[in-house]
Amino acid sequence: MPAGIIGEYETSSAQETIALGKKLGSMLEPPLLVLLRGDLGTGKTTLTKGIVLGLGVKDEAEVSSPSFTLINEYFGRCKIYHVDLYRLETVRDLESIGLEDALRDRAVVIVEWGEKLEQLEEADLIVDIIDLGDDKRKLVVLTQESKPAQVKKRPKRGKRKNYS
Ligand code: ADP
Ligand code: MG
Repeated sequence: MPAGIIGEYETSSAQETIALGKKLGSMLEPPLLVLLRGDLGTGKTTLTKGIVLGLGVKDEAEVSSPSFTLINEYFGRCKIYHVDLYRLETVRDLESIGLEDALRDRAVVIVEWGEKLEQLEEADLIVDIIDLGDDKRKLVVLTQESKPAQVKKRPKRGKRKNYS
């Protein structure tokens, strides 16, 4: 198994993806940045519903796609920010979308279209979702080998030339 992959799963329905997300969410401790990658309709928002339930939000109906709002905020056993970068070309880092303090806030930040975040190395966890046809999805959960010990600190390799 390639280093960095901590789990590979297959689901056959949205409910199964929610259940998987719930398990994952129950294991997460803030501060944490989770990037979800995958095409439109693969199940990023669906997985987020599960993760958010696992983080103690009671009603998954609270969770909706923030495609227009960019960021939704939920309150479970910690603060949760749900971000959707679909409408953006690229995002340099969390600071550029006003989420600089989110992780310091002891929040879990879940980012749909996480591949658009240039500073991928900021992520603690990445979930790749692949459509296998019909209702089947493959979900690959990865951690960062290059991850700095503390997410609160700026990654050394960042391209933050103009930071002021
Ligand atoms: P995304 O956020 O990636 O664009 P959504 O979660 O909004 O995707 O939508 C996924 C769609 O696919 C939903 O309509 C959901 O019911 C459907 N679906 C079918 N099978 C699955 C599955 N195994 N996992 C997740 N979603 C599934
Ligand atoms: Mg979505």
